[in-house]
Amino acid sequence: MKSFFDVSQNFVTCPSCRRRSLKSRWKENLYICPNCGKYRPISAPFRLSLILDEGSFHEMDRDMVSADPLHFEGYAEKAQKQREKTNLNESAVIGTGKIGGFEVMTAVLDSRFFMGSMGVAVGEKVTRAVEYATDHHLPLIIFSASGGARMQEGIYSLMQMAKTAAAVQRFSEAGGLYISFLTHPTTGGVTASFATLGDITLAEPGALIGFAGPRVIEQTIGQKLPKGFQRAEYLQHHGFVDKIVERKDMRRVLHQLLSLHLEKDKEGLEG
Ligand SMILES: [Zn+2]
Repeated sequence: MKSFFDVSQNFVTCPSCRRRSLKSRWKENLYICPNCGKYRPISAPFRLSLILDEGSFHEMDRDMVSADPLHFEGYAEKAQKQREKTNLNESAVIGTGKIGGFEVMTAVLDSRFFMGSMGVAVGEKVTRAVEYATDHHLPLIIFSASGGARMQEGIYSLMQMAKTAAAVQRFSEAGGLYISFLTHPTTGGVTASFATLGDITLAEPGALIGFAGPRVIEQTIGQKLPKGFQRAEYLQHHGFVDKIVERKDMRRVLHQLLSLHLEKDKEGLEG
């Protein structure tokens, strides 16, 4: 017989509206609060399962991990805990897959792992994803979710900004299509490098997107920020985000964009 406590564990409380819903309802609703509609973060594997054709994903460089170049106190132990918690080796997952038959190269940052922060391994994986897409003429789709550069790797983390940005530039010069999908939160060094270099920039509803967080800005400038500042909708209104895409529509919208661009390429080649 299930105890009261077992039953209560089947419910998850929304941190936004504080109302409870059944775990299964959350999952059915793709981890968007069934009561208030607030988006909760999802794991990289779950996101990939929502956009890719079943069984089409081929992961690359799964075993790559960051070294501990600064011998930062406690970093190795913390990283090990993150690996156990998430069953990932790093916060970036990269690989090829198909969306409605279109082959794509994709990279997804998982915010459960050190807040999706970019250290050497994440920078290297993203760069490899971009380079693979360049070499194989594949469209590139990167889902960002990041607290920024990983402070435990110091300047080596910051160097990943230049490395990833340069790879995207080479990809762009080779004529590749890069769709950048910003999810909550995309901040710091990831915003200031590859995440904002897409040909098309999509975002999830309500996602926080910015460089420094709102609290830091308010403390620096000594002013209150406007309502909705740094949210996806505000950025779309100001031309920084092209389209807000609901989670249930991700696959359909990506497929539509790929059809439009790849068909156009084909016509261009034949013409
Ligand atoms: Zn809620």
